[in-house]
Amino acid sequence: MSEEKVLEQASLEANSPFELRVNLGAGVSENAVKAALATGDMGFLHSFTTGSAVDGPGVRLVAWTAGCQFRCLYCHNPDTWNMVNGIPVTLVRAKEELAKYSHGLKVMSGGFTLSGGEPLMQDRFAVRLFSAAKAMGIHTALDTNGFLGERLTDEELEKVDLVLLDIKSWDPERHRQLTGKDVRPTLDFARRLAARNRSIWLRFVLVPGFSDDANDIAQIAKFAGGLGNVERVDVLPFHQMGLFKWKELKLEYTLENVEPPTHELVERVVAQFSAEGLTAY
Ligand code: SF4
Repeated sequence: MSEEKVLEQASLEANSPFELRVNLGAGVSENAVKAALATGDMGFLHSFTTGSAVDGPGVRLVAWTAGCQFRCLYCHNPDTWNMVNGIPVTLVRAKEELAKYSHGLKVMSGGFTLSGGEPLMQDRFAVRLFSAAKAMGIHTALDTNGFLGERLTDEELEKVDLVLLDIKSWDPERHRQLTGKDVRPTLDFARRLAARNRSIWLRFVLVPGFSDDANDIAQIAKFAGGLGNVERVDVLPFHQMGLFKWKELKLEYTLENVEPPTHELVERVVAQFSAEGLTAY
């Protein structure tokens, strides 16, 4: 299927990333996918959303990428795991979308955020889009699990004003159980961002019984507090809004009986980060 045909079927804009999207890039050949990944001429996006006030400072235009190498037990967007679920979007088209909103984003002291999925699965596309945004004078933010941070050169990091970095757990074994991958690359990326003086907003998803261990959180807080570049910490309470996607995709979901954290638990975790001198919410 041609890209135009695919785009006829799906709008680039979504009301939210909670819209289920599957197989939108299935018509793109393997070679075309490989070429896109190597050059960044084309990316695979779940959607663009506008008006976000939580994905960086000010009002944001957010491009949600498809493709993630983690398999978080609590992921609320499992349709973004596979790149072919995304809409193939040329770099030219994505830049047009940016240009459309550039004035408004600047007026509202906002910017452009690349989220996912995991944006660095498409690192060349990400870098070229960030470069385009910077050329338009737009603030840029990368929302990432950090695992592929080494794909960006130091020079490329300069195009990213802010990194929204997820640290899921400190304990390597627990991290592996939660995500399927090692935690070390994420921590290495955080250290590198600190060394290069790039701002971080740390994000921590709080799941009762899975990521609420006080000692584990204390270690993350101590690490984050020692970095010197963490501007804020957002404790994100687990919720069940992604449950329907797991069901639709026929994926085994193990958190069906898990309740969102209590107010007291959220407060405890926020206090743990604050105790290390961090601004936490
Ligand atoms: S890193 Fe994000 S997108 Fe990837 S599986 Fe985890 S929660 Fe989902």
